[in-house]
Amino acid sequence: MKHVETVIIGAGASGLACAATLVAAGRDCIVLDRGRRPGGRASSRDLADGRTVDLGVPLFRLTDPGVQAMTADLRARGSIVRWPGLVADRTGDRLTYRDPEQDPRWTGAPSTGALLATMAEGVPVLQELAATAATHASGSWVVTCTDETRLRADFLILAMPLPQARRLVADCPGAPFENDACLVTALDVSDGAWPDLMGTQHNVACYIHDDDLLALVVRRPGRPWVVHASAAWSHPRLDQPVTAWAAEMSKQLSERLGGPAPTVLHAHRWTFARPRGPLAGGHGWDPDRRLAVCGDAWVGPAGRFEGALRSGLDAAGRVLGTA
Ligand SMILES: Cc1cc2nc3c(=O)[nH]c(=O)nc-3n(C[C@H](O)[C@H](O)[C@H](O)COP(=O)(O)OP(=O)(O)OC[C@H]3O[C@@H](n4cnc5c(N)ncnc54)[C@H](O)[C@@H]3O)c2cc1C
Repeated sequence: MKHVETVIIGAGASGLACAATLVAAGRDCIVLDRGRRPGGRASSRDLADGRTVDLGVPLFRLTDPGVQAMTADLRARGSIVRWPGLVADRTGDRLTYRDPEQDPRWTGAPSTGALLATMAEGVPVLQELAATAATHASGSWVVTCTDETRLRADFLILAMPLPQARRLVADCPGAPFENDACLVTALDVSDGAWPDLMGTQHNVACYIHDDDLLALVVRRPGRPWVVHASAAWSHPRLDQPVTAWAAEMSKQLSERLGGPAPTVLHAHRWTFARPRGPLAGGHGWDPDRRLAVCGDAWVGPAGRFEGALRSGLDAAGRVLGTA
């Protein structure tokens, strides 16, 4: 059985931030992820028509001084850029725009998926490999994967939503809570559509705060529109086929906002999109078993994407003895 110092399960923002730090320090680690590409909830999809669409986090804050070194490097490489438009809030009939200088937002370039792929450069990531069990005995971890691969490790880092971490290690650190789901569609919508909802700005991410169906609509020139459904709309449809709820979303949008039902270019179901009660404290740590749990479960009220990065950096500090 192969032995490494640290196994990290999860190649999303937190797992990659953790792994990149360990690799930079010359430490021995492996990242496992069941997805086809790194990114987790910061994933993008290449559509058949050649366009790319961000299906998870479209834009994020960078306010935490703890992530500045890592993100400054990514900005210097052009992988993180300022969000190239406005951020709006809609509550009832009221549409307001945030001041981009007071509350700057950032995004991955050319996509969030590309940003996470850049973060994965030089990191040993085994994709399409799901961990099915992690057990601790005699001072070390044994991680078993779907293809019967088994890895032995001194440290285990669970870098994923807390409900998923609990499936692997039922008594991992962190008080149990659930995650809200989010159903997302990428739609072909003409540039000037839905002015009553979005205003007439062509480049805008609009958070909708009191709607049964909509939570966020993102409109960027040259890209498909991306619609995030509210948790209340998403949960009852989680077990339906993707084609069924995507068609229903398109029909409801047309009825509500006018115009023909938009063509659905892609639809994605995020079962664990957002932690319902994120825990403060940055990460979970069990010193006896050398087990860290990181990700946006631990960001408290902070921004989720930057919080996930910070959480992964903190978990790396446990391995390095600097936390
Ligand atoms: C629709 C949506 C909109 C969002 N909008 C925003 C926003 O506006 N602003 C913001 O800051 N954040 C936003 N976020 C949140 C942001 O994307 C996340 O906080 C961040 O990407 C979480 O990173 P993570 O590393 O904690 O977890 P994840 O990205 O979920 O990574 C976990 C990884 O673990 C892998 N995994 C899980 N179980 C196993 C297993 N058993 N074996 C192997 N691999 C496993 C998964 O495949 C996944 O790649 C949004 C997220 C979604 C889904």
